[in-house]
Amino acid sequence: MFRQAIVLFNSVLVSVFLLPVTLAAAPADLRANADRMQQHIKALSAFGANADGGVDRIAFSEADLAARAYIRDLMRAAGLSVRMDTAGNIIGRREGSEPDLPVIMFGSHIDSVPGGGNYDGDVGVIGAIEVIQVLQDNSIRTRHPLEVVSFTDEEGGLTGSRAMIGEVDYRMLSVVSHSGMTIGEGIRTVGGDPNRLDLAERKPAELKAFIELHIEQGAFLDAENIDIGVVEGIVGIRWWDVTVEGFANHAGTTPMNRRWDAMVTAAEYILAVNRVATSMQGEQVATVGKIRAMPGAPNVIPGEVVLSLEIRDLSAAKIQRVFDEIRREGKRIADARFTPIRYAEIDVASSPAPTDARMRRIIAAAADELGLSFKFMPSGAGHDAQDMARITPTGMIFVPSAKGISHSPQEFTSAQDMANGASVLLWTVLEIDGGGLD
Ligand SMILES: [Zn+2]
Repeated sequence: MFRQAIVLFNSVLVSVFLLPVTLAAAPADLRANADRMQQHIKALSAFGANADGGVDRIAFSEADLAARAYIRDLMRAAGLSVRMDTAGNIIGRREGSEPDLPVIMFGSHIDSVPGGGNYDGDVGVIGAIEVIQVLQDNSIRTRHPLEVVSFTDEEGGLTGSRAMIGEVDYRMLSVVSHSGMTIGEGIRTVGGDPNRLDLAERKPAELKAFIELHIEQGAFLDAENIDIGVVEGIVGIRWWDVTVEGFANHAGTTPMNRRWDAMVTAAEYILAVNRVATSMQGEQVATVGKIRAMPGAPNVIPGEVVLSLEIRDLSAAKIQRVFDEIRREGKRIADARFTPIRYAEIDVASSPAPTDARMRRIIAAAADELGLSFKFMPSGAGHDAQDMARITPTGMIFVPSAKGISHSPQEFTSAQDMANGASVLLWTVLEIDGGGLD
């Protein structure tokens, strides 16, 4: 039963052996319909379609509005009763047989980045509706109420899920989004009420669990030919401005042995960042993505260089260890060149968001029983699930992104891969409904 997992992943054996027996809740032949999902993805891709084969479906744009109407229609066709909260989140509800039980919620988003693809977010919303459709087709009634959610403006800062967990930064509402509107105006445009976002808040007691199906947006599953990623969590992110202080001087008259060249120190520093992140055990990543030299002239030795440092990992303690090691290396380099390095941390407020351990086991068991190979992995990208994880047990299911390409018209996930993910979602929902988290 665990054959595929054992062949592929020695490192996850421990977790695999902790799987809870078998899943009782799902009839053995219950599957998502790949053709139907493909059809829905294709129909959705018409809203905001661009010449490159992708979409420009920025939240709050005309294309977004039209796509939102399409999603509401699909939800109704699957038998859901549809409402919108004050943040503009579209919520389709299916009652359970025990009305007092908390909601099992699942979904994703349908807004895109400028020049985006047809799968990021979309697969999670279409997959969630597919789960409901399969339950309808098979006349399966759950005990818990089920809610499918399509979150507002994921790409612009997790706007909808922030409101749902009651953590809106109200300054954010005046930020002008890619739509040309402020986020506040955008929420009003889709029919929400930016002044009453408190009404969109859900309390932990109302929810049983949240699950998000999403494309990986990276290359691990595709490269290793694995069907399903069981997401361990969404990585935390920390940013710093790093300033190297040198001394600006004439590039022609200052001999090489009398320079305090901030750029040379920065060059060594950048290599050190890469070396530290590569040499430590684990899946941490560290990046210098931006650099500015002052005064920035060909004939002046740079007196100051400011560069960005970003570190991501699933563990906050690990991020700190990576940073400490980089700082130690940086100090060594700075001392040798008499060019001090200063750090100023930028508040990006993105702590690691681990998924629920029981949920991971259920998702892995669902994949396994469906005959799908799977792997435990972190998510390097942000998702609405990271917000939801703060108020309810949360799980995330990844399906492969061809060549790891995302936020691009070349984004691609096959119909079979999408359906595999939706089937795992379906079985996960039924297992939770049957008491898998109790
Ligand atoms: Zn997404």
